Amino acid sequence: MQALELKECPLCHGKNVTIRFSCEDHTTTHEEFQLSECQDCTFIFTNPQPDESSIGKYYDSPEYISHSESNKSLFDKVYTYLREAALKWKRGIITSNQPIGKKLLDVGCGTGNFLQHMKMHGWETTGVEPSESAASKARAKKVGSIFQSIDQIANQKYDVITLWHVLEHLHEPKKKLQSLKGLLQENGTIIIAVPNRESFDAKYYKNYWAAYDVPRHLWHFSQENIKSILNETGFSLTATHPMKLDSFYVSLLSESYKNKNRSKILNAVNALRIGLLSNFKARKNKNYSSLIYVANK
Ligand SMILES: [Zn+2]
Repeated sequence: MQALELKECPLCHGKNVTIRFSCEDHTTTHEEFQLSECQDCTFIFTNPQPDESSIGKYYDSPEYISHSESNKSLFDKVYTYLREAALKWKRGIITSNQPIGKKLLDVGCGTGNFLQHMKMHGWETTGVEPSESAASKARAKKVGSIFQSIDQIANQKYDVITLWHVLEHLHEPKKKLQSLKGLLQENGTIIIAVPNRESFDAKYYKNYWAAYDVPRHLWHFSQENIKSILNETGFSLTATHPMKLDSFYVSLLSESYKNKNRSKILNAVNALRIGLLSNFKARKNKNYSSLIYVANK
């Protein structure tokens, strides 16, 4: 791997960076990765991390469900059912924010399920997807152009740009957000969903927390970290929404990493308990397992 070692915090440029703990890549290589914490702004990031040219192999796994259309196990079936419900709910969040038009760019569109859903409801859709196999599946759905990277898009302005669990995967997240700002209409909306490392399920599972997902997740945001990155890139945060299903999904995966040899039933029961607790405890401080941030240009 071409390792990229970050000597300073990519968010606040503080030099006081210490190792917090390490996590295993549970889905592809089973390598260990360290997480560093900035002592100035509390940002946590995978460090060292694979650079852009070498991260590809870490996505090369049949288990990497967000790119696959597999429908075999009961787990996959439940996941697919919930995903359909989630698509409708995501659309609701976008429309309730009263977008200025119906031109949408989905960054990290995967196999294009969200774009397909939005197109069906009258949206003009475009996607960005670096994985060629996922992008070709998206193209087969005829959901508009699918670009390999943001940089390939020229002379276009979108009313809404979405990043569903994508920002944590992007090298140079600030720079990418600035580029996306240039692709957004005045008063356009950006929607960013990311895992929340300050959630109860994150604290309970510690280094087994599935949403650390090293090294694919380069950045591990708190609400404060997202507020500062939005602030610095010139977006104004207008709303935050919980993703309450994520606590169950992430807990179930975390259980399977933590208790590999325990019965699946027992793991599922505990995941249900932790998922419920996580949502319950988040009612006041909004520290849900994953959060959706709605911001305007
Ligand atoms: Zn920092």
